[in-house]
Amino acid sequence: MRLRRKPWIDEAIREYDSFVYLQPQEGLKGRWREVFDNPTAPLWVELGTGKGNFISRLADIHREVNFIGIEVQLGVLYYAAKKCAAAELTNVRLLRFDAAFLETLFAPGEVDRFFINFCDPWPKKRHAKRRLTYRGFLDRYARLLAADGEIHFKSDNAGLFDFTLEEFNARHWPLSEVTYDLHGSDILNEAMTEYEAKFSGLGQPIFHCVAAKPA
Ligand code: SAM
Repeated sequence: MRLRRKPWIDEAIREYDSFVYLQPQEGLKGRWREVFDNPTAPLWVELGTGKGNFISRLADIHREVNFIGIEVQLGVLYYAAKKCAAAELTNVRLLRFDAAFLETLFAPGEVDRFFINFCDPWPKKRHAKRRLTYRGFLDRYARLLAADGEIHFKSDNAGLFDFTLEEFNARHWPLSEVTYDLHGSDILNEAMTEYEAKFSGLGQPIFHCVAAKPA
């Protein structure tokens, strides 16, 4: 999702600076819980938050959880911020940040759950290392997750989904809730993303799995 750059967003997003962080926050590494009202709550992190349908909905349902949404594009982060503000969510922080550098942001064991929803498939084989579920990324997530941490993954892309299952298997992440038709299954799907609504609206199946941090 590449949006045409909208210069007014640079200014407009400042309205949300109480919960949107535009600069890297290395100083908060290992201390993210302290920025929330409830510092003992679990921390769930979405990578590639987009326009925020998913995080704003899930954080509304789970007020007992702290959420961080990570998105590299300011142009979409603005819309995510708008949704979180409209829902008066105090349990969400949004970061303009590149997920490739997560280890500068979080300390080992700091995150309880990652969500990766409809990440860019990078279909060319030579770009496989850029996929957010490439094994190099999985190893990083494993270091940042708590012992009982999980990754929840959704995609519309069959090639990316099969690749992701292979990568999880290669790194010995136990898998559950694996389905090639999330909406036709009885797996709980509490919040839809923008891409999910779009592709399922076109009649396409949604692929999903949960991977547990390897022992
Ligand atoms: N998750 C949303 C959804 O399901 O509707 C958006 C999906 S869109 C295909 C992928 C999103 O991930 C884009 O908004 C893109 O800017 C963001 N993204 C891609 N690579 C990223 C990275 N390395 N770090 C943070 N965000 C990234």
